[in-house]
Amino acid sequence: LALRREGAVEFYTPDPEKYGGIYSAPVFYNPAMEKNRTLSVLILKAYGKTGLTVCEPLSGTGIRGIRYAVESGAVGRLVLNDISKEATELIKKNLEINGVDAEVYNEDANVLLHRLRDTCDVVDIDPFGSPAPFMQAAFRALREEGLICATATDTAVLVGRYPRKCLRRYGSVAFRTPFYIEVGLRNLIGFVARVAASEDYKIEPLMSYWEGHYFRFCAYAVRGARDADDNFRNIGYLEYKGGLRRVTTRPGASYLGPLWIGPMGEPLIIYKMAEFGPHQDFLKLLAEEYSVAAPWYYRMPEFAVGGRSVTLKEALKILREAGIYSTATHMSPDGFKTDSSYGEVARVLKTYNYAT
Ligand code: SAM
Repeated sequence: LALRREGAVEFYTPDPEKYGGIYSAPVFYNPAMEKNRTLSVLILKAYGKTGLTVCEPLSGTGIRGIRYAVESGAVGRLVLNDISKEATELIKKNLEINGVDAEVYNEDANVLLHRLRDTCDVVDIDPFGSPAPFMQAAFRALREEGLICATATDTAVLVGRYPRKCLRRYGSVAFRTPFYIEVGLRNLIGFVARVAASEDYKIEPLMSYWEGHYFRFCAYAVRGARDADDNFRNIGYLEYKGGLRRVTTRPGASYLGPLWIGPMGEPLIIYKMAEFGPHQDFLKLLAEEYSVAAPWYYRMPEFAVGGRSVTLKEALKILREAGIYSTATHMSPDGFKTDSSYGEVARVLKTYNYAT
């Protein structure tokens, strides 16, 4: 074992020297998920409640749940679980060295979540790959209201690189577009919203984002059939035919969806999270993006003239001066979001690019 530190917690992981790579270790720990865990601690804090029952049914080393207990100040009862026996033993050890109390189970996550029916305030699904197989049970475990969080590392499927797999796993049509990261995120939220509706929950996304190898999503969920109907106000289809390319397609083949077309997060809670310190710039960017309703971003090369284009920073300034509100996006280094139409943006940026 190796002793590590993350946030305010010390914990054991399998010795990285002994096992080449994180996937061959007997218990899974990915240091590249630190930001995911830190932002999750912040959102629990910003949620503003205490004494919460938090269930993390795919715990690995237990680091995530233990950080919630130690750092958020929001946890009353902590329920950890892993299907691997070795993992649960390590979780117990890690709880002990941090002086944290928790119930630890060694079951299939879905079995546990069904058994916990109606008792949890926060359910966090952090699987290998897709959270889809656990989402229905996650809502079962939730009380009248609470937080549902999920990580998805099957990003290639969600962004439309494997359309058939996407259709099987998420029941949605996705194919590659220039704004594929946003398609992936909205694809995931759309799926969760439909599962939520099937369990009579309405969801309001509080934070959703992409970081290289995963998508992350946290929503406030509240039970009620009438409210749950509202989820479908935010579900829609996106028509994309690829700029000026002329393509003959079968009916429906140029539509992506169903996708979430509503807000991807709540700026107020994001600003509150930013007050706690870490990741301030990232959080401010998210809050700005969430204030734009249009469900896609544009990318600078789409407005180039003869291969020439102003930089993103210049473009944001030019658009602002032309009275068009736009923001950078965490989803692409050369992307920006705006509620204005492609035509309006192109008129301003292309004119500028011609002139330079
Ligand atoms: N949440 C952890 C963290 O933040 O460090 C990492 C969890 S890891 C990505 C996924 C874990 O789920 C693994 O430890 C694996 O053993 C466990 N697992 C896989 N399938 C499961 C199932 N059906 N029920 C419960 N646990 C499962």
